[in-house]
Amino acid sequence: MKIVDRVLYSLVTIPQMLFSHMHGYEKKYLREYHPHATPASALSPRREEEPFDLKLSEVAAETRMTGDRKPYLDLDRMLDDGMGTMSAIIKTTRGVRKSFRSLRENAGLDKTRADPAFYAELKRKARDLGIDIMGFTPVPAEFIFRGKRIMFPNAIVCAQEMKRSDMETAPDITASVETLRVYANLGHAMNRLADFMRAQGIPCQVGHPLMGLVLYPALAARAGMGCLGRQGLLITPEFGPRQRIGAIFVPLEDMPWTGGEQHSWVLDFCDHCNLCVRCCPGGAIYEEPRPNTPGVFTTIDNAACAPWFSLYLGCSVCIKVCPFSRKGYDRIKQAYERNEAELVIEDASSP
Ligand code: SF4
Ligand code: SF4
Repeated sequence: MKIVDRVLYSLVTIPQMLFSHMHGYEKKYLREYHPHATPASALSPRREEEPFDLKLSEVAAETRMTGDRKPYLDLDRMLDDGMGTMSAIIKTTRGVRKSFRSLRENAGLDKTRADPAFYAELKRKARDLGIDIMGFTPVPAEFIFRGKRIMFPNAIVCAQEMKRSDMETAPDITASVETLRVYANLGHAMNRLADFMRAQGIPCQVGHPLMGLVLYPALAARAGMGCLGRQGLLITPEFGPRQRIGAIFVPLEDMPWTGGEQHSWVLDFCDHCNLCVRCCPGGAIYEEPRPNTPGVFTTIDNAACAPWFSLYLGCSVCIKVCPFSRKGYDRIKQAYERNEAELVIEDASSP
C-alpha cells in the first residue's frame, strides 16, 4: 500500500473509532437503565448500523473498481476539510456522551407538569440555542427501535437546518461536513436545553440526532413538523429535507401537543416526482415504499445505500435533488394546488 493511502486510511479510521465509542455509551446506558425505561414494541423497526460502518477493505475495493478517487477519498480535499470534519465528529461524540451521562442528573427530579410560561420560555431558549423547528408529541412504542428503550413517554422533537448552499454540493465532502456540523450543533443545543429543563426540576433524556433510539423522521411527522418524503426523510415547510432531527424525552403530561395531517399532500407529490429515486447513485430508494410494521414503511434499501453513504461520509444526493430543498415548500404547494406539479419537478431537475 502506498504511503499516501496509509495516511488516508488512518484518517478514515478515526471517525470509525469515534462512532464505535458512541455505540459503547449507548450499550452502557441500555444496561444501566434497562429496568426503568419504556421498551420498543414487538412492531418496532430495527435501527440499521451499517451506514457508519466504514469498512476500509470496501472503500479500497470501490476505489480500485472505479479507477479514480471519490471526493471523500481525495487526500487534498480531506486535508482541506479535515479539520472541520474532525472537529464536528469530536463535538458530536462529546454530545452523545453527555446525552447518556447526564441521565444521572435526573436523580431527585420528579416534575411532570409545567405552566404555559415554562413552554413559552422553552421555545424562546430553543430558538436562542439555534433549534429551528420544534414539535411536541407522545412517542408511539412502535417508533422505538427494536432493542432500544427510552426513559420518558413524551417527546420534544427538535430540528436544525443544513445550509442549502453546502447541501447543493452533495456528494462532495462540503455537504458531509455541513451534515456533521449540524449533528454536532443540534446535539449540543439539545443538551443545553435539557440542562435548562433539569434546572426547572423536570427530568429528561436527550435523544442525540446521531444516535437514534427512536425513528426520528416518523416522530417529527407525528408532531406535525412535516411529512415523510419518498427518500424517508422529513420534508418540512421551512427547509424541505434539509434538517437533522433529535428528540428530548420528558414525563410532562400537559405539553402543548402539535400534530395534524396538513402536510400529507406531499405523499401524492412524491408519486409524481421520484427525482430522488432516479438520482440515487446506489439505486437504493424504492419507487414503491414497502410496508414494514403498521404505520411504518421502508423506503431505502440500506445495503445499497451503505457503500455510498460510507464512501462519501454521508452522500446526501437525495437531499440535494429534492424539489422541496431547491424550490421551497410554499411554491411547490401552490403549483400542486394548480395541478402544475410537473412544471416544478422539471424546473427542479435542471438546477
Ligand atoms: S444517501 Fe445517497 S445512496 Fe443513500 S439513498 Fe440517499 S442518494 Fe441514495
Ligand atoms: S425528490 Fe421528489 S420524490 Fe423524492 S422526496 Fe423529494 S419530492 Fe419526494
